[in-house]
Amino acid sequence: MRVINFNAGPAGLPLPALERARDELLDFQGSGMSIMEHSHRGKEYEAVHNEAISLLTELLGIPATHQVLFLQGGASQQFAQVPMNFLTAGASADYLMTGVWSEKALDEAKYYGKPRIAGTALNASKGYTRVLKQAELQLDPAAAYVHMTSNNTIYGTQWHTFPEAGRVPLVADMSSDLLWRPIDVSRFSMIYAGAQKNVGPSGIVLVIVAKDFMAKGRTDIPKIFRYSTYAENNSLYNTPPTFAIYLCRNVLAWIKGVGGLKQIEQWNREKGELLYGAIDRNAAFYRAPVEKESRSYMNVVFRLPTEALEETFVSEAKKAGMVGLKGHRTAGGIRVSLYNAVTVENVKALVAFMDQFFKKHG
Ligand code: PMP
Repeated sequence: MRVINFNAGPAGLPLPALERARDELLDFQGSGMSIMEHSHRGKEYEAVHNEAISLLTELLGIPATHQVLFLQGGASQQFAQVPMNFLTAGASADYLMTGVWSEKALDEAKYYGKPRIAGTALNASKGYTRVLKQAELQLDPAAAYVHMTSNNTIYGTQWHTFPEAGRVPLVADMSSDLLWRPIDVSRFSMIYAGAQKNVGPSGIVLVIVAKDFMAKGRTDIPKIFRYSTYAENNSLYNTPPTFAIYLCRNVLAWIKGVGGLKQIEQWNREKGELLYGAIDRNAAFYRAPVEKESRSYMNVVFRLPTEALEETFVSEAKKAGMVGLKGHRTAGGIRVSLYNAVTVENVKALVAFMDQFFKKHG
């Protein structure tokens, strides 16, 4: 029996994508072996690889100015790899601080140049409860790039309008909200995302990079860390995580099959409205710290009146078949991750549970 999975990442995967993997596991398309056992240079794997790239390109409407790359090392490696490629000693880059992941990205950039904080949403008493407004940004027109985190997985905040960076390349960590809705990719010089939340399993990072930006990358760093190496070799410079890419292909094909990102966005908005509705109905009990205009549709965080009640909430939900509700270890409270694999029905079940829980304990 499968549970309702609200994990923050690795997260639930759409059932049809898993069923397809199950059906193809032992004998991939009559080849007598699984896709994992094929050479990454063989025609069977190559077709899967190219299909994953073309599905992502089609779903997001990625323009010809940009290229899709598959990297490893998690989004955390991108924190280092972006400055490694685009910051020279003494050069600066602007960082927009909206949570722990932005802080980690900033820290890695310090090894290569002089990253600046061009805006921070950190409040001394409240922590991170919102994203930034354009008027708060102090952008340096000479920066090598502006770095932002589009969705803050731990704090449950999300940029609903992307910042204007002028002529400075905009780089976004979209690990926890890539593919939650259509976006205008041309606004970004680079997007990167660890796949394990909304796109597939862990072990693979999707990168969408503008070719002109990539061309400015340093060439005095090892080849394996240059974006251009991956671009020149269609992400087959060395052995990629073939099974992870195969599973992303299954998820992307599922998204296309259900009607693409317009349909996905409609479901995600419905899910978010259902859950925030349940929180706001009993706002003194389910206390949501995030400012309304910064609320995330991917990670919804709230507190209960006591930590003991939070524990009861998590354990009673588990008995009701719902897992993954405990907040991040640094933030506490409850976190509900509503990635694409979570259905409207799943959220209705949670909301019914929350209303019951309030009646019993409120
Ligand atoms: N960025 C964001 C927004 C994240 O949520 C996470 C992981 N939770 C990371 C980066 C780090 O990802 P990884 O563990 O794949 O390095």
